[in-house]
Amino acid sequence: MFHLRLVGRPPVPIHPVEQHLWLGLRWQHEQNFLPLLNQRLAAAGAQCASLAGLVANGGVPLAVAMATFEMVIEGSFRFGRWLLAVAPGASEVLNAAYEGWARSFIGAPPWRNAMVAASELGWPLSGAGRAAVDVAVRRATLWALPEDDLYGAVFRGSQAAGHPSWARASLCLLQDWGVEDWPIWKARCAGSLAAYKAYAKTVITGRCLAARAQALDGHPYVQLRPCVSQDLAKGYALGLPTSCLRAQRSVSRLRAGLLTLTHRNRRRSWARLQYCIFCEATLAPEEGLSHALNVCGAWTKGRAAFGQAPGVGAGAEPGASLGAEPGSPGYQQLAEWAGALDSSATEFWSGAP
Ligand SMILES: [Zn+2]
Repeated sequence: MFHLRLVGRPPVPIHPVEQHLWLGLRWQHEQNFLPLLNQRLAAAGAQCASLAGLVANGGVPLAVAMATFEMVIEGSFRFGRWLLAVAPGASEVLNAAYEGWARSFIGAPPWRNAMVAASELGWPLSGAGRAAVDVAVRRATLWALPEDDLYGAVFRGSQAAGHPSWARASLCLLQDWGVEDWPIWKARCAGSLAAYKAYAKTVITGRCLAARAQALDGHPYVQLRPCVSQDLAKGYALGLPTSCLRAQRSVSRLRAGLLTLTHRNRRRSWARLQYCIFCEATLAPEEGLSHALNVCGAWTKGRAAFGQAPGVGAGAEPGASLGAEPGSPGYQQLAEWAGALDSSATEFWSGAP
């Protein structure tokens, strides 16, 4: 135990601390930011769970929830993320968290493809990708400080020294993403900080989309949505009725294949011969969705509403319009029908043995 000794005063014991607060962040004495990152993710995860619950029970449309997520949850979580992102293992932890949140917003179980859920939410960037954009912008901001700025001088000194530091770790992170550091980019493009942010975001988004394409290679979802869906933002911008905005989550769930529409003895089954949960027609499991939308006798009303919508041609199959975007003929009718179908399927399985 060390003591502070001042002349004329009794020794005062000095208590070691393992963390201290600086720049609004809690720093560990060993400079490992992973515990703090996990703590912040847990808090953000609890907020996501509350919001996802409101969406699931119909209280909040998914489009509104996504705007709330970006403004409130992401807006708060991104504070200091440029620092936490360089912790060993941070990328994996960030990706896993955002993937879990994406699944929770459309009600997908943990084993379903997270890229599909993220696509339906309109998230082109992974969790690590979002953090990498913050790191790039932070580095550029520090590089752009005046020569005599103390903060900037410490950053440039750490960068040049080569010893372990945030400056070195963040440079490695940018190199892993294929993003040019500010001085190199500035010499090439002579652009502003805002232009550099746009450049970094474009490069990082490109890497995330390449990973998405690889993860969804051969997945049936790609036929419905080859690119990241913009449905939520478009539906909101078009001013679709609230009932339709609420039903967009069900459209996502249908496209993501989250609804089980066939049964065997009122149980989920891998059997090749199954039955429609609505009309008991004999089906193969993969025929459930096209049957419900195009043929099923239990949904003649929904099919008629879609067929009579302005712009929908005679004989148009609703199943072929599942990939259509908001504003397309019959989108509103199809979305509201999807909402009813989702509710009926959920009711069926909640009463199953
Ligand atoms: Zn049926």
